[in-house]
Amino acid sequence: MDTFELLKKLNAAHGPSGDEGEIRQVIADLAKPFADEIMTDTMGNLIVRKRGEGPSLMFCAHMDSIGFVVTHITKEGYLRCGRLGGVSPKEVVNTVVRFKNGVRGVFAREEKADFGKLKLDECFIDIGAKDREDAQKLVQIGDTAVYDTPLFCNNGKVISPYLDNRISCVILLRALAQITACANDCTFVFSVQEEVGLRGGKTASYSIDPDYGVAVDVTDVDDVPGSEQYGTTQLGKGAAVKVMDSSVICHPEMVAKLEDVAKTHGITVQRDILRAGGTDAGVMSVNRSGVVTGGISVPCRYIHTPCEMADLSDVDACAALVSALAQTKLDAI
Ligand SMILES: [Zn+2]
Repeated sequence: MDTFELLKKLNAAHGPSGDEGEIRQVIADLAKPFADEIMTDTMGNLIVRKRGEGPSLMFCAHMDSIGFVVTHITKEGYLRCGRLGGVSPKEVVNTVVRFKNGVRGVFAREEKADFGKLKLDECFIDIGAKDREDAQKLVQIGDTAVYDTPLFCNNGKVISPYLDNRISCVILLRALAQITACANDCTFVFSVQEEVGLRGGKTASYSIDPDYGVAVDVTDVDDVPGSEQYGTTQLGKGAAVKVMDSSVICHPEMVAKLEDVAKTHGITVQRDILRAGGTDAGVMSVNRSGVVTGGISVPCRYIHTPCEMADLSDVDACAALVSALAQTKLDAI
């Protein structure tokens, strides 16, 4: 299955932070043919083992997306909500959101709200209900919703909601299919609750106790008009090898190893420094007595908006780099 088809399958599954059951099942079904062992831990992380003789290498891509949780239903039938992860209401206004049961609504703002300083409290989801009783037939307090914007490709780019981080789940799935023999003892983790504080990655790192760790996630770019240079990467310039983000300073050994493996396999790479935002690499690196950790990042425009954009050739490069690293024997630690 190619990137677009895989992404289509993953996007159809619900999976905001803390509510990853559906997405986990879809990924588990896709990973199963390539796994030596597959399990779900207490937190809900999906852990896929691909055995090899070498030291233990953990890849981690979070499968949760940002989203909303219903906190109040007004007597007129509108839904007030809280955020799951870094949602900016300004960027979501007048778009469609979807609940797990398929109910859709418009994310709207109060007419008098100051758009420039728009707060989530000034927004609501309109599911077209007559009143509270009518709304409660469709949605309860505690139910979660995610963006429901379209997925499409244009000029070699893919545009989709929550490429952060379904695109990295696609990358791990594609790498799993590409690997013929693991040179290291590999674990592919599809983690939960990253968007609310790297929670799944933390417990998975503890239980797996890897020698080496690689987080696979999206990263910010510096290639759009008026860029504030939060990122260093550009679309179409290859897989991004993480140097640091707000949660981690990557181990120099892992940065060098990823660049070296890329060179050997003719994979185009660029360097990634993300000035605002963290990844599961943060918790992997400080696990137990420390892990040689790095990151493979997909350059992504408009992160956390309902229309994120990545380049398909960068996605190919990231998948190639994951599978090349898995098949390159790392030094024993
Ligand atoms: Zn992410």
